[in-house]
Amino acid sequence: MAQGVCIITEFREGTFRRVSFEIASEGRKLADELGESLLAVALGEGVEAVASDLGGYGVEKVYVVDDALLKDYRAETYVPVVAEILQNLSPKVVLTAASVDGKDFSARLAARLGAGLATDCTELKVEGGGLKAKRPMYAGKAFSWCEWSEGAWPQVASCRPNVMDCLAPDTSKKAEVETAEVALPEGNLTQVVSIEKDAGGKLDLTEAEVIVSGGRGMKGPENFAMLEELAGILGGTVGASRSAVDSGWRPHADQVGQTGKVVTPNLYVACGISGAIQHLAGMSSSKYIVAVNKDPEAPIFSKADYGIVEDLFQFLPAFIEEVKTLKSTC
Ligand SMILES: Cc1cc2nc3c(=O)[nH]c(=O)nc-3n(C[C@H](O)[C@H](O)[C@H](O)COP(=O)(O)OP(=O)(O)OC[C@H]3O[C@@H](n4cnc5c(N)ncnc54)[C@H](O)[C@@H]3O)c2cc1C
Repeated sequence: MAQGVCIITEFREGTFRRVSFEIASEGRKLADELGESLLAVALGEGVEAVASDLGGYGVEKVYVVDDALLKDYRAETYVPVVAEILQNLSPKVVLTAASVDGKDFSARLAARLGAGLATDCTELKVEGGGLKAKRPMYAGKAFSWCEWSEGAWPQVASCRPNVMDCLAPDTSKKAEVETAEVALPEGNLTQVVSIEKDAGGKLDLTEAEVIVSGGRGMKGPENFAMLEELAGILGGTVGASRSAVDSGWRPHADQVGQTGKVVTPNLYVACGISGAIQHLAGMSSSKYIVAVNKDPEAPIFSKADYGIVEDLFQFLPAFIEEVKTLKSTC
């Protein structure tokens, strides 16, 4: 009989990624509503040392596989190992991260389990003893609520990072940790040769809490220095529209949108970006959106919480000074 809610964590370089705590918090809420326990599966080299910390987010028990073979995410090692653990546990609900690796992983895992998968969910709730999942469609133009056929366990949902609330951890609570006895596949089809980090140690857009983005209205690459400065003061990073990237002003890694990255920061500042649907697809789930554009009819204003109709070359320098003053007095 299916029982329990189980989250699949992401562990990189000695720590769990923030999205793991978000899905643990969401999993706790769902487990309480379903009257089930909250379990976790944690894979990675060195993960055992920190696995019990998941207890702070409401996880009761963690099944770990700590092995050098699992240092980096590879579908051919991660998917069969997690699938075997889940086949033994037989949970009702499985939550994964809709991160870059998580998107690849979740689809393969669901296929291997023969389970239904709702991808990139922005909201989850319990109805009729099962899960209901809200997810964006048509590049964020519409949202749909998905449900699973009755008794079709497990219900697998991947969760969009930075959207679901993350509990403040209760560090006095520790989860029980058990080593999962599973056969580790050799995984010799692919290997991670190297991981190239951004030279400047730039924060990944998908993890940033503040993004200051520039579009064609920035007029040239040199003017992005203003955005770098503002992002630096606000503890964020710089993004760009496709026009700015296609013009060679910014690297493709900075592109936000349908063919770039989907981001969900707490604050997204769009400077000189018109707000084409393909751009909105990547940033409209941001918590607060501020748009600076000299055209009052620019579509970005329909999504903005705060709109500044102004020439950005007039506005930004004054705004940066004001933010600096505020920061120095805080
Ligand atoms: C299949 C497909 C996929 C795509 N994927 C993406 C994607 O992932 N991401 C993406 O961004 N786009 C994507 N696009 C492109 C998208 O359609 C738009 O062309 C692009 O987003 C426009 O970029 P922009 O807003 O910077 O430029 P523009 O649309 O040219 O807008 C520039 C804005 O700057 C304002 N402006 C100009 N000067 C100033 C000033 N001095 N002060 C203030 N405001 C000023 C203007 O009023 C204007 O609104 C895609 C398109 C297609 C067809």
